[in-house]
This record gives sequence, C-alpha cells and structure tokens, in this order.
Amino acid sequence: MSGSSLAAAPTAINAKRVQYRVGHGGFHASIVRPIKTGDFAPLSYVYDVGASPDVSLLGSAIGEFVYEMTSASLLTLDFVVISHVDEDHVNRLPALISALKRANISVGTLVLPWLGGASKLLGLMRLRDKDTTAIAAQLLQSDSAVTQFAASLGFRDVTFVKASSGTIDDSPAPDPIPDGTGANHVPVPARVVDSGTDVAPAHAPWEMLVAQLAVPAAILDGLAAEITKATGLDVENEADRRKLVDTSKTRAQLREILEVLGRTHDLARPGVTLTNWSSISLHSTSTNPYARHTVPEASALSFSVNCEHAWLHTGDLPLHLDDVWQEFESEWDRIGVAHEVCTVTAPHHGSQHGHNINLYTRFVTSAVVFTFGLTVGTQRGVPKWSKLLDPKPVMRHLRLHGALKLRLLNNRP
Ligand SMILES: [Zn+2]
Ligand SMILES: [Zn+2]
Repeated sequence: MSGSSLAAAPTAINAKRVQYRVGHGGFHASIVRPIKTGDFAPLSYVYDVGASPDVSLLGSAIGEFVYEMTSASLLTLDFVVISHVDEDHVNRLPALISALKRANISVGTLVLPWLGGASKLLGLMRLRDKDTTAIAAQLLQSDSAVTQFAASLGFRDVTFVKASSGTIDDSPAPDPIPDGTGANHVPVPARVVDSGTDVAPAHAPWEMLVAQLAVPAAILDGLAAEITKATGLDVENEADRRKLVDTSKTRAQLREILEVLGRTHDLARPGVTLTNWSSISLHSTSTNPYARHTVPEASALSFSVNCEHAWLHTGDLPLHLDDVWQEFESEWDRIGVAHEVCTVTAPHHGSQHGHNINLYTRFVTSAVVFTFGLTVGTQRGVPKWSKLLDPKPVMRHLRLHGALKLRLLNNRP
C-alpha cells in the first residue's frame, strides 16, 4: 500500500439479536462479537426472561440460547435486564441461570428498575396467592435483600435504574433478609444509575441506553399517605409491606384505596398501569456508524432481522396514556437517539393498553415484534386472558400506518 492516509477500517461486528417465541412473556438475547477475533471482548445480554401462564416455549428458548452462547465460546452472560417486576417478565430467571451454570457460563450484572416502597407494594399486590417464593416477590424486597438474592443466583453485581427526576435512598437496609433457601449470601455490590445511562462496558463498540420514567410523585405519595391513614402502616418499611399484602383485611383496604386513586387520576386498572409504568426501555445498537451487523436467518422459533440500527424494547409501558407517552418521548429526546431503528418490540405484548401510534413516528422502524399468548387450542388469535391483551386492533392500526413488518411471536402450535 502507498503512504496515503486511509481511514481506520470500521470494526466488523457480528451481532446476533433474537427475540424468542415464548407466547405471552418476553425473552430477547443479543450476542455481539467481533468478526476478527481480538478486536473487542464479546458482549452478551438478555432483556426479560419470563412467560405466563405457559412456560414450555420459554424453556426450549432458554436451551436454544445457551447453545448459542456455548457455540460462541462465551463464558459470561454480561447482563440480564429486567424491564419491570411482573412475573411474565421475570419468572424463568432462575431457570436461565441454572441452564447457563450447567454450561459453565457465569452471569454478570442484573439490571432492574429502582422502585420506591409504594411501587414495591403495588408489585406484591399483583402476585396471586401472596406467593412470597415467586421470583417477582424476591425482586420486590428491600434493595439490600435484592442484592442478596442476586448473589444467590450468581450475579456479580446489580444496577438499579432510576428516573432522572426521582429520588432515592440507596443506602441498603442494615439487616440482611433471609432468601428462603437458608443460604447466607453476601450481597453483591449495587449501583444506581440515572435514566439515560449507557450500561454497556466501554470496551465494546456497542451501547445499551436504559430509560426509566418517573411515576408522578402525586400518585405514589398520595397512595402511601392513604395507606398510612387507613392502616397505620408505612409502605417504605419492608415488614409493613409484607403485613399489608398478607392479611385479607388490609388487602381489601388496599384495593379500595387503589380504586379511589384510579378515579382521582383517571387511571384504569391502577395496580397494573403503575407497575407497567416502571418498565425500563432499552435502546441498543452499535456505536460504530459504519459497522454492519451480520444477522443470521430467522429460525422457526424466533425472529431475527438484518439491522444496522437499534433495537428498541419498551417493556409493558402504558404508552396509550398521554402523560406516559409525553414523558417517554421527551426522555428519549433528552437522551438523544436517532429516529431510525430496526426493530421495536411492541409495548405490553402488542396490547392496546400500551399502544401509541406516535411511537412509530418518533422511532421509524422496519419491524414490530408482538410477544403475546393465545388461548390454547384456538387458531383465530383469541387472546389468552382478556380483550385488553388482544393484539389485533394494534396490528390493524400499524398496517394502516405504513409498510411495517409485523412479527407475531405467539404460542400457536
Ligand atoms: Zn407483561
Ligand atoms: Zn407488566
């Protein structure tokens, strides 16, 4: 070659990005590797690992993913991002960890939303049968108990994501709370990052921007005050939260308070809506604008896409509410990401209770992924639980909106 100055060749990246078909739930995995070995250390992460009520497809998806990790000779899954603490997004976390362990793969950082006492209580209320062994219940304990639970699973550390305008008491409670297995785990280190942080390691030509919206303090503080007035208990206190969900008398009081709160703030199903409002959205892509991601063909059980831009995950965000949408849009404008993305995972499994057509103007995408469940045995797209989760109206709206590829990852046999 002559001595003419040539721009450094862009780092060639092999990014395999898969949204697995699990029915109602979520399981995404990205494996980012250099094409030329040694260019950078590989990076891998998962966004959500849950399904409900049927976890059989997720079980096979976990197997498939661990096989991918092994084939790529990866020794660590760097991140598990939990969008929000609902069972259909977290319930197979231990199964994922066990499958990785059997393949001698360790886990790095657990990323999850930072929640105040009122939000933790709302999450606990959503658990059927007061099941304190549920994974969601473990992740709704005090922050220090969550880091202890993360330690018991083998994570190296925990990252809590908080809304920019939120407040936090990040000093862990002094007394470790037993995790129920009798194991005495030393809590792993935890850090709290603001919404808008890139949690990806600096060495990788890749970014993982996390956004966390703030549920208005007027709602959560009002809830906490009403609960104290009615029961004398404090939502910021772990033992009090347990008491509140443990007895039928206080549960009935809570339901009544929530009903009034819903009417006051014009929120339908306030328990679900407020829990989903805390979903972390994740915008992840290569930081090298010239890098080409080579993405393998889609398999029958998953969805892949040729992508040079980002994948946007939205958890169960109730974007159909104007307040939530406006907050979401201004947060991503503040963080400053491009309009073009490759794939959007439709909020709340593609339900109308989350859908906002403005999302597809702010983020111009070629594909939208639906992660929903069907009633077993039907062939006509009848949703598993309620009209609320029926994805058909949203699909129709998106077909009118433009030439989007709609990918339906349901549990149809
Ligand atoms: Zn969900
Ligand atoms: Zn949810």
